[in-house]
Amino acid sequence: MRRKVIAGNWKMNMTPSEAVKLVNDLKDNVANTAVDVVFCVPAIDIVPVVEAAKGTNICVGAENMYIEEKGAYTGEISPNMLVDAGVSHVIIGHSERRQYFKEDDEFLNKKVKKAIEHKLIPIICCGETLEQREEGVTLTFVKGQIKAAYEGVSAADALNTIVAYEPIWAIGTGKVATTEQAEEVCASIRKDLEEIYDTDTASKIRILYGGSVNGSNAAELFAQENIDGGLVGGASLKPEFANIVNY
Ligand code: PEP
Repeated sequence: MRRKVIAGNWKMNMTPSEAVKLVNDLKDNVANTAVDVVFCVPAIDIVPVVEAAKGTNICVGAENMYIEEKGAYTGEISPNMLVDAGVSHVIIGHSERRQYFKEDDEFLNKKVKKAIEHKLIPIICCGETLEQREEGVTLTFVKGQIKAAYEGVSAADALNTIVAYEPIWAIGTGKVATTEQAEEVCASIRKDLEEIYDTDTASKIRILYGGSVNGSNAAELFAQENIDGGLVGGASLKPEFANIVNY
């Protein structure tokens, strides 16, 4: 039985003081110990959010990190900085980073390995464009992303990773994938993981769906056999996030 994960991706929203207020507003309502609750927040919000979330069930995640531990990489944040600040999860390869910051599969694989080395749980994002879906290449495209992300990662380490399937056309558009579409791809990702590793390992890795998840569609999505929770963007900034956590 896989434990569900409900992760919020705040993206580039919330100043530090707004972030603390949001945690304080949400913390009692997301106190569902039956699921893992993760708030992935902008780098500048990490320290105050860790402080505000002390004594709660909220895990704090980063939205990105660099692949080196320290040095002349102006503007970057290292995995050890995240760990020292109290971060447990890190989003890797969100489609916005792939698109706007040109992060490719090879670089993202380095990030996955670096996160694992520092015992951070990578939330590895994958997903197709609308064009790819219409061309009928979704499953092969996503398989390529998964194979690349897990290149050189052992089965034991893969157990401490999370996949988030996020069709790009459903992110921030209000256009949610149907439960059938979401389940089809998540089941296919599990098969890909089975091919890379084995049935047992693949059956233990959590696979989330992301893309316009809200309080009304979460329960149906999360009831699917291969969907182990959600990565939530827009709705993670609202009181509605509690409804998703308590789906
Ligand atoms: C996301 O950014 O990961 C996301 C899924 O966004 P939204 O829920 O707003 O579609």
